[in-house]
Amino acid sequence: MSLFPHIKFILGAAQPKQFPEDIGAEVAIAGRSNAGKSSAINAIVARQSLARSSKTPGRTQQINFFELVPGQRLVDLPGYGYAKVPVNMRQHWGALLTSYFNQRSCLGGAIVVMDSRHPLTDIDKQMLDLAASRSLPIHILLTKADKLSRSVAMKTLADVRKQLNGAATVQLFSATAKTGVDEARDVMKSMMNSRAAN
Ligand code: GDP
Repeated sequence: MSLFPHIKFILGAAQPKQFPEDIGAEVAIAGRSNAGKSSAINAIVARQSLARSSKTPGRTQQINFFELVPGQRLVDLPGYGYAKVPVNMRQHWGALLTSYFNQRSCLGGAIVVMDSRHPLTDIDKQMLDLAASRSLPIHILLTKADKLSRSVAMKTLADVRKQLNGAATVQLFSATAKTGVDEARDVMKSMMNSRAAN
């Protein structure tokens, strides 16, 4: 049986006024372009190409809302850090993300994906600061872990954990090898439920 049989794309918002009603619970997922966010979403919700809706032209700079079950949404934030994005687009991205984090009271937590080969870049840290400004639970997926040897992967995990110093939880993840998928899904669900309980 499918995990989320009724999952669906709700809408892409280019401006805060387009956000869906701020009720129920939602979990946001963010990451640098190409870090493996779409692959992670597809693995977590066990759908081959759900997050492709977020990659269609015109939607990459939008905040894309998916309904997992009624009242629970997974929110795909636009990928950041792509060097070729013009400055005015970057400003738009920053303003949109800031209003999203400032105003969504249904937000239960943020999942941030980082390529395990180069985690915690400056822009990743800015993203973490934005999520931390709301005191939200933050969980980091170190993606593409299949590209690292076991020992390098374990060392990376330990290093990132140390640098974060308790500011976020962190795990290894691979959409290709399907490692860490259940753990990531459980974290997402508990972030949703923490919100629903409020
Ligand atoms: P996004 O831009 O962050 O949404 O990244 P994508 O999910 O589109 O992935 C970017 C690239 O990395 C694609 O070529 C994927 O096939 C690849 N990729 C994503 N996840 C993994 C993974 O777990 N392992 C490996 N080896 N490649 C991955």
